[in-house]
Amino acid sequence: MPCELCDSPGGELVWQGPDLRVVLVADPDYPGLCRVIWNRHVAEMTDLDEVDRLRLMRAVFAVESAVRRALVPDKINLASLGNQVPHLHWHVIPRRRDDRHFPHPIWSAPQRPAFPPSREDRVAQLRTVLARELARFA
Ligand SMILES: [Zn+2]
Repeated sequence: MPCELCDSPGGELVWQGPDLRVVLVADPDYPGLCRVIWNRHVAEMTDLDEVDRLRLMRAVFAVESAVRRALVPDKINLASLGNQVPHLHWHVIPRRRDDRHFPHPIWSAPQRPAFPPSREDRVAQLRTVLARELARFA
């Protein structure tokens, strides 16, 4: 079975380590949306041993901290679904009360029309904060 997260980075690569990587996703509705992707193809958290599970979650929390600092969202959503791409990854999603789907998951039916978020400055800042936070994982 071809796997898009084995075959491609899965977004703009902002950090790459031996076990995992962090990408920024170009979603116009959700600027600053990041994914933390385990490099090896496994489907479930329990496919990892405890050390690797902890390593993955520490990266997720580091990304969450960076997203909070740079984008100051109303809420963070952490999600690991993998129904469409069964390759272990976590979504770190900055949510705003006026975003397109709030208070529902970003994959649900839109609640309101898309608003044009001009947050390029914040996303640029996020790249800087992510690089600093994730340098500790190197
Ligand atoms: Zn894969």
